[in-house]
Amino acid sequence: MRIVAANWKMNHLRADATAFMETLKAGWKPVEGVVAAVAPPFPLLPLLQGLAQGTPLRVYAQNAHAEAKGAFTGEVSMAMVQDAGACGVILGHSERRQYNGETEATLLPKLKAAAAQGLAPMLCVGETLAQRDAGETLAVLKAQLAILAGTGFPGLAIAYEPVWAIGTGRVATVAQIAEVHAFIRGELKALLGDQGAATPILYGGSVTPDNFAEILRVPDVAGGLVGGASLDPAKFLRLLELAA
Ligand code: PEP
Repeated sequence: MRIVAANWKMNHLRADATAFMETLKAGWKPVEGVVAAVAPPFPLLPLLQGLAQGTPLRVYAQNAHAEAKGAFTGEVSMAMVQDAGACGVILGHSERRQYNGETEATLLPKLKAAAAQGLAPMLCVGETLAQRDAGETLAVLKAQLAILAGTGFPGLAIAYEPVWAIGTGRVATVAQIAEVHAFIRGELKALLGDQGAATPILYGGSVTPDNFAEILRVPDVAGGLVGGASLDPAKFLRLLELAA
């Protein structure tokens, strides 16, 4: 199975989402084994879910809170994003780690809350440029993945996103992706056994229609988590075709 997931970040209004879906539906020929997902900002979840009716598009949230309800101004719960149309949730994106203080300590409760709500979690991991330059890449990833020990979250996917490759136009090399994805696979097997052997590992970081085919040929790459290029429905469609 391959997954092509769009992370719209803080982009698009309702009109943009509507136009995106019109173009997608006009050009998309879904094929077995290729999952398409879009993670819009919270306010667009119900609209997107409605527009996706009759298609296999999966709608994800970009984040949600670990607590079920209460005095957490500005937050939304797992039940709320599900009620608004999400079937999964991205967790631990590097922008949330950087700007919102997301850490392993906050992410484990979120993973558990997502699973309890029946949401498929997509856990993002990745090293900064300073960590890579210091030779710490694999140690950083090991620590980020360690929260999965002894768990078994249904629908879990991992997105390897080197922070230095996100939104920079600087895509990781095939050799770098191959090394890290093989390492993540080994860690997942050690942490999760059979589930770890089958967990999809996506690559993210400046994926475009020009580099996706080459990235998909790397062993243990099961698709992409795509930011910038996913805002354009024509490019998203092309990414889906390349994954087929
Ligand atoms: C992302 O936001 O997850 C991402 C990978 O962004 P971009 O494709 O723009 O690098």
